[in-house]
Amino acid sequence: MKLILLGAPGAGKGTQAEIISKKLNIPTISTGNILRSAVRNGTPVGLKAKAYMDAGALVPDEVIIGVIGERLQEADAQNGYILDGVPRTIAQAEALENAGIQFDAVVSIEVPDAEIEQRMTGRRTCPACGATYHIVANPPKQEGICDLCGEALGQRKDDQPETVKSRLVTYHEQTEPLKGFYAQRGLLKVVDVRGSVEEVNAAIMKVLGE
Ligand code: AMP
Repeated sequence: MKLILLGAPGAGKGTQAEIISKKLNIPTISTGNILRSAVRNGTPVGLKAKAYMDAGALVPDEVIIGVIGERLQEADAQNGYILDGVPRTIAQAEALENAGIQFDAVVSIEVPDAEIEQRMTGRRTCPACGATYHIVANPPKQEGICDLCGEALGQRKDDQPETVKSRLVTYHEQTEPLKGFYAQRGLLKVVDVRGSVEEVNAAIMKVLGE
């Protein structure tokens, strides 16, 4: 199963990707997590990406296309994967298509902007493994501590309210057109459910026929 999760920042792509990944036993590939780790490690990709990420802007397509191309070569990606946060532009989608990758489904998780802005203030992220939580909707078992690796949770710089607003503008201008791109290819599945993490997941599994 090769799957793309589309949706605004904070729509729940990362949370849903983790659940689907366990259910279908395929890895999640998140360019956001790959880039954050590159920034932490001070790699050449990290140095190129940092200023864009801090500003809530998109990292240039050629950087992303390089990063995702390398990641998809790895052994664990040979039987399928969930793409979380990529593609984010038509150019990235075309690059994946030109690489001959055929997706089974593209799921767009729809959440109104006003709700996204509220949600982002409660988001907490593990700086070590990239797992995401929400203080109300999806809290860790122990407050402030990652369930998966025990690290202290933090708040992403780009989850500040002003940055969230500009990330939403970027989403509508540059990423939302991907819905039309994949609808034309018969792959788009829209999930427009206001509910718990479990309810949204149930709706996703249903559109995937799982
Ligand atoms: P995310 O964790 O997916 O919200 O990504 C965090 C930040 O990383 C974004 O705001 C962008 O600056 C950058 N980023 C992640 N994935 C992409 C992508 N596919 N294209 C461009 N920039 C990206």
